[in-house]
Amino acid sequence: MRIILLGPPGAGKGTQSKELAGRLTLPHISTGDILRENVLAQTDLGKKAKDFMDKGELVPDKLVAKMLSERFAQPDIKSGFILDGYPRNLNQAKTLDGILSAKQMPVDLVVYLDTSDEVIIQRLTGRLVCSKCGANFHKTNMPPKIGSICDICAGKLYQRKDDLPETVKKRIEVYKNEASALIKYYKEKNILHTLSADGGANIVLREIIALSQNNS
Ligand code: AMP
Repeated sequence: MRIILLGPPGAGKGTQSKELAGRLTLPHISTGDILRENVLAQTDLGKKAKDFMDKGELVPDKLVAKMLSERFAQPDIKSGFILDGYPRNLNQAKTLDGILSAKQMPVDLVVYLDTSDEVIIQRLTGRLVCSKCGANFHKTNMPPKIGSICDICAGKLYQRKDDLPETVKKRIEVYKNEASALIKYYKEKNILHTLSADGGANIVLREIIALSQNNS
């Protein structure tokens, strides 16, 4: 099964993708995660991407396309994948089609997680991420048991630089500029399903699983 989760930052794409990947035994491919790993490791790509990411802007398509092709060259995607954070614009959607059609692996399902601005801002500005295992917490929605320590691995929790209020606003704006063309593109392919992602994560997860079962 090949699934794309679309939606603004803060829609819960990462949370849902991780859960889904576990339940459907599929690899979770997050372009944001791969980029952050590159920034941390100070690779050439990471050095080029860092400034764009810190400002809440998109990393140039060419850089991300190369990174994605390399990821899709790995054997684990043969069983399918959950793609999160890509495509972000029409150009990327077409690049993805090119990569996947060469492998005769068309996308089965695109789920658009529709989310209101208030919910996005509340979720992102309160998000805490574990510096060791990457687990997500939230200052009020899902606080860690002890201070700024990860419940899972005891790593230190931090706030992502791009989750600061001004950058979140910029990210929402960047997303909205590109989203309608992307939604139209997948609607015309008849593979787009829209869900409201304002509610609890468990409800949204159940709905995505039902869609994946109906489309497999
Ligand atoms: P995310 O974790 O998906 O919110 O992504 C964090 C940041 O990584 C974004 O604000 C962009 O700067 C960059 N990024 C992630 N995915 C892409 C993409 N598909 N195209 C361009 N930039 C991306």
